[in-house]
Amino acid sequence: MEHSPLLHGSCLCGGVAYRAEGPVERASHCYCTMCRKQHGAAAGSYANVASAGFTVERGAELVTEYASSSHGRRGFCSACGSSLYWRSTETPDRIAVTLGTLEPEYDGPVEREWYPENKPGWLPAR
Ligand SMILES: [Zn+2]
Ligand SMILES: [Zn+2]
Repeated sequence: MEHSPLLHGSCLCGGVAYRAEGPVERASHCYCTMCRKQHGAAAGSYANVASAGFTVERGAELVTEYASSSHGRRGFCSACGSSLYWRSTETPDRIAVTLGTLEPEYDGPVEREWYPENKPGWLPAR
């Protein structure tokens, strides 16, 4: 089933707003060390969409990319630090927007977990 053909997202300070066209493929939680560090959380959570449908509608000047590997680029808001997307220069036709920045809240399935063996021991709360 396809969800939300048009997605909207924004950062914490509201300076950056973007839209992306669905359908979402392979929504995921990634527990790799890089995603955990960048998100400051147990995982990075993403919705994989076509990069052709991704547009920064507001605050493009605030979007900064960090090259976390030879091919990985992590886009974030330079004003508030919100993680906005992850993309790979090896697959330029796709971009993974962060689930936590989507508005309204993403309501589709999360189909994958990357590096589940790297889940922190403090997850879940108990
Ligand atoms: Zn911001
Ligand atoms: Zn990761």
